[in-house]
Amino acid sequence: MDLGIKGKKAIVCASSKGLGQGCARALAAAGVDLVMNARGAEALEASAAAIRSEFGVDVQAVAADITSEEGRAAVLEAAGQVDILVNNAGGPPPGMWHDWEREDFIQALDSNMLTPIALIKACVPGMMERGWGRVVNITSQSVKAPIGVLGLSNSARAGLTGYVAGTSRQVAGKGVNINNLLPGIHATDRATSLDGGVAKAQGITPDEARANREKTIPAGRYGTADEFGAACAFLCSQHAGFIVGQNILLDGGGVNSTL
Ligand code: NAP
Repeated sequence: MDLGIKGKKAIVCASSKGLGQGCARALAAAGVDLVMNARGAEALEASAAAIRSEFGVDVQAVAADITSEEGRAAVLEAAGQVDILVNNAGGPPPGMWHDWEREDFIQALDSNMLTPIALIKACVPGMMERGWGRVVNITSQSVKAPIGVLGLSNSARAGLTGYVAGTSRQVAGKGVNINNLLPGIHATDRATSLDGGVAKAQGITPDEARANREKTIPAGRYGTADEFGAACAFLCSQHAGFIVGQNILLDGGGVNSTL
């Protein structure tokens, strides 16, 4: 399917690895020029070079912490006029509800709520002026079904979801579509690290932890970054112009709900 976005410019935050990289690759495959970002320059440059050579699009790599004001400024400056914004950052650490202090919440809010909101505020006015734009926020299945040990994520992502629900409806009339993609478990470094934590807590191997988790997913497996990226690219496409403020689960059926 031609996504109709060849030649557009996208910022894909936190994209040297994992789901962000999957989104960057799928957008590049659709002919979109990219500004990619991550903190670690080496993995970022390697990923950008691979995408340039595979898809022949323009890729700028900005090594910066997207949760910092300076990091966001560097990414925005490199991008110039932005048509597509994919918001992403690392997820908060697991823990117990009674252990988190104010500072832990502030950090989670900065990463997973206030950073995407700051980038939306920076990019959407220009998109509205030009009459076209797409924003996809990578959030989590924890927005629909809480994950106990990820209370910081549950909380911060709920805040972003509320903001998007209202904002997306205020900008849709100008051709700007904002939606959220909610990953269930996907085979990335983040999943490996979460499986490692479960393995340690339960005295089993990481492979056993993964196999146990796969049994809880109707699809019987973890998702892939490529599948995730393809869904993101569709939401960024010309075909998605009537999809506004939605929260789309990509979870292999893991969240057991009718709606
Ligand atoms: P990942 O494999 O660990 O990759 C994270 C990527 O983000 C890396 O490129 C990392 O590079 C970059 N990054 C992290 N913090 C950053 C920051 N502050 N500024 C710029 N770049 C940053 O993670 P993932 O699995 O793709 O997860 C992406 C998001 O989806 C996370 O918020 C995660 O909580 C959420 N999620 C994932 C799953 C899953 O199963 N994978 C499920 C639900 C939700 P550097 O470290 O070099 O910066």
